[in-house]
Amino acid sequence: MDMPLDIPTERSSQLAQRLRRSLPGGDTRTSTYYAPFPLSLSEGKGCRVRDVDGNEFIDLLSNFTALVHGHAPDTVVRSLHEQALMGTAFPAPGEAQASLAEAIRDRVASIELMRFTNSGSEAIMMAVRAARSFTGRAAIIKIDGGYHGSWEQVPMDVGSEASLRGIPDSSLDLLHTVPMNDVQALENMFALRGSEIAAFLIEPVMGEGVLVASDDYLAAAKELTEEYGALLVFDEVISFRLGFGGRQGQVGVKPDLTTLGKLIGGGLPVGAFGGRRDVMESFDPTRPGNLEHAGTYNGNAMTMAAGLATLDLLSADEIGRINSLGEHFTAELDRLLVQSALDGRATGCGSLTHVHFELNSEGMPAKFADMRLSSPLLKQFHRASLDQGLFFATRGLMCMSTAMDEEVVDEMLGAFTLAIEKVEGKVRVG
Ligand code: PLP
Repeated sequence: MDMPLDIPTERSSQLAQRLRRSLPGGDTRTSTYYAPFPLSLSEGKGCRVRDVDGNEFIDLLSNFTALVHGHAPDTVVRSLHEQALMGTAFPAPGEAQASLAEAIRDRVASIELMRFTNSGSEAIMMAVRAARSFTGRAAIIKIDGGYHGSWEQVPMDVGSEASLRGIPDSSLDLLHTVPMNDVQALENMFALRGSEIAAFLIEPVMGEGVLVASDDYLAAAKELTEEYGALLVFDEVISFRLGFGGRQGQVGVKPDLTTLGKLIGGGLPVGAFGGRRDVMESFDPTRPGNLEHAGTYNGNAMTMAAGLATLDLLSADEIGRINSLGEHFTAELDRLLVQSALDGRATGCGSLTHVHFELNSEGMPAKFADMRLSSPLLKQFHRASLDQGLFFATRGLMCMSTAMDEEVVDEMLGAFTLAIEKVEGKVRVG
């Protein structure tokens, strides 16, 4: 069912046809697709974006949480301009890389040494490589539904045939999954496989559904990884935005390794991994038998400049402000959905929000299996929201940026009220 939008989409439609001639499905990211074609966005400032037909939206996605200050913040643009005039890429280290690494290490106590990559996916690859090399083991454990990028070793949904297609059995043999927040299941897994496990990989707050790992669960994960000699890896590519020292700073559990991405690149492609000195030292080229980690754009000058300007703006106060804004927004959106005929819920954690429809469970989702990834109602809600000038992920992920305030939140809630009414009208008629 294609469900055309009510807003003008002529130019996006024409561009979609042109894009499809060169790119399968008309884009380069699976997650950006929705039927009949995704709108092409052409510009953004602060929390507002515009598409090629001139439609304006409040951007609740901020490039999947990466643009923590919204689009084109003045100081980031200035830093990029200054850096571009001096050159964009050098096969050598530089001052901005030192400064960004220091800014991150000042915030995240567990990161003693770190390295930059071009994406979160690469950061995960290298963190797992480091864990495998350090422990001399090959297998990893991850959470059901945990998303760690496009590397074949960490498919998001091992229950989905499509998500496993093209991945050799030899990779899958090295992967074990456990449901979120089930300490017993994790204990059982370690009891069964403990001596084979190099790392337990977990997002402290899962992007998929914004499921929050409980403090007790993370503490148990720390104990079990220590007991069995595996490394605990926190994927904070998304959750870093939740606290000054990432989510780990809030829960007080220190992982062995951490992966970062998204916001630390200030809107440019980035990833990073780091943690215990004794693990990360294996990348030091002055050491015999060091691990290889190359990359033409690793630590790229433009990315470092944008990341540094972004972290400079991201004070503890600002993080607290957007977390409060997000909590208020999530609670109000949940109230609107619960009162509606749509059987929806909004869950969240600080500045992150996720909407759910047609859940497989009673009440709020507690694990991946409770969520319904492709709910027809979610699709309708997404289309109706676009018509009301609200832009977020087709799968229901939303976030606050520092470009937002109470007034914008009220504006969004007003628009969501109208979107919900529109879908209710269709549900009643249908
Ligand atoms: N880890 C998490 C938690 C993510 O959300 C993502 C991307 O959405 C990744 C890793 C992969 O990052 P990238 O898209 O930069 O490869």
